[in-house]
Amino acid sequence: MEKVVFLDRDGTINEEVNYLHKREDLRILPAVTEGLRLLSEAGFLLILITNQAGIGRGYYSVRDCIELNDFLAAELQKGSAGLSAGYYCPHHPTHGIGEWKRACLCRKPEAGLFYQAEWDMLSEKLREDCLFGLSEREREEAERELLPDKGGGESGSLLQSGLRLPEALLSELKKRNETLSELRSWLSHCYMIGDKLIDMEAGHRFGVCGILLSTGYGAEEEKKAKPGDYDYFSKDMKEAAEWILKRERRDSLRS
Ligand SMILES: [Mg+2]
Repeated sequence: MEKVVFLDRDGTINEEVNYLHKREDLRILPAVTEGLRLLSEAGFLLILITNQAGIGRGYYSVRDCIELNDFLAAELQKGSAGLSAGYYCPHHPTHGIGEWKRACLCRKPEAGLFYQAEWDMLSEKLREDCLFGLSEREREEAERELLPDKGGGESGSLLQSGLRLPEALLSELKKRNETLSELRSWLSHCYMIGDKLIDMEAGHRFGVCGILLSTGYGAEEEKKAKPGDYDYFSKDMKEAAEWILKRERRDSLRS
């Protein structure tokens, strides 16, 4: 599987504004396009993983979120820093309205969206292997949940989705990540970049290296961090990209 850099959105790629959902409020941070271009040129897929509780709180719709992400992807693409996919969590455990009020498995620091992204990249064989680990009832449920299209994005725009994996399948995939050497090796070459400790925690739960940026809430978050909460603290996206590329070169020399 292709190596992935998972990316938080607000405060990481774009300037943190409360509940961003309008194009005119989108400002891409300095050094982001350049950093993402370096990663893209080095063969990394770039995948958004974003908590969008503004949907659950009723401030904007799923459609608004998807359209804003499409616009962001188009802006980055102009600088040859194309995103491959975007995954969002619309819930909030206490402030969500109606169906959006949930202690879900997709809101970071949970790692559900990472597993969803992985599932969407997985080979047919590995998918079947995971499904084989389920009971008949769980498998039927999974097949119902997973059949609908990947949702949201119009054709030609960014592939976007929420968490569609049922819990049983998510556990199966987690088991494979811990035991299959090909998946363990894949994870060791994937990264999470974000501006909050919950981004780092989610990345670590999934099993990838976490890079905290000083942008957005990053500088404040770094002061709260305990040893091991993140793997590298970087001033901006370009420096983060250079650190990743250096680490990858060192790994390839070793093997
Ligand atoms: Mg953020």
